[in-house]
Amino acid sequence: MPDWQALIRDIPDFPKPGVVFKDITPLLADADGYAAAVDAMAAPWRGVALDAVLAVESRGFIVGAALARALGTGFVPVRKPGKLPARVHAQDYDLEYGSDRLEIHADALSPGARVLLVDDVLATGGTLRAALALARQQGAIVVGAAVLLEISALEGRARWEPDVALEATLAC
Ligand code: IMP
Repeated sequence: MPDWQALIRDIPDFPKPGVVFKDITPLLADADGYAAAVDAMAAPWRGVALDAVLAVESRGFIVGAALARALGTGFVPVRKPGKLPARVHAQDYDLEYGSDRLEIHADALSPGARVLLVDDVLATGGTLRAALALARQQGAIVVGAAVLLEISALEGRARWEPDVALEATLAC
């Protein structure tokens, strides 16, 4: 397997001074690296009954859509405010760099739908927890969550629900 972890680079002082941003764009641009990353993200969920991948705008879409295809599920977008055209449910959440709101179509998931939450990076965990709340508002069963990269120092896992499996393909 190629050393695709090496294709994630550190960008100091982005998006603000003192923050070291993990930039996955070189990995996405590498055909073998992107494929290997998606395969590795999919591996823990193969054979698990799932109806949909629910992924968070915007980098979550890049891995989430590929994962939905790899796992043979539907794809449900969770978006920034004002982007979805039909009626939405909203959830406010805290970010590493401030606060924000996420939205999902109110009819996106049927009660009992089995979903996998997907994002590119787990930092403080606020984003993924907001996605969990949105899925549960609709009565979905959150089977687990998958991220490409977990930034361990920001302790998102410590704030995650212990009952919901959380798989990080890489950790730093
Ligand atoms: P959290 O809510 O603090 O866990 O932050 C995770 C969200 O912010 C994800 O949607 C990521 O796309 C984004 N994010 C936070 N830190 C980074 C980073 O270092 N690189 C890429 N995305 C990040």
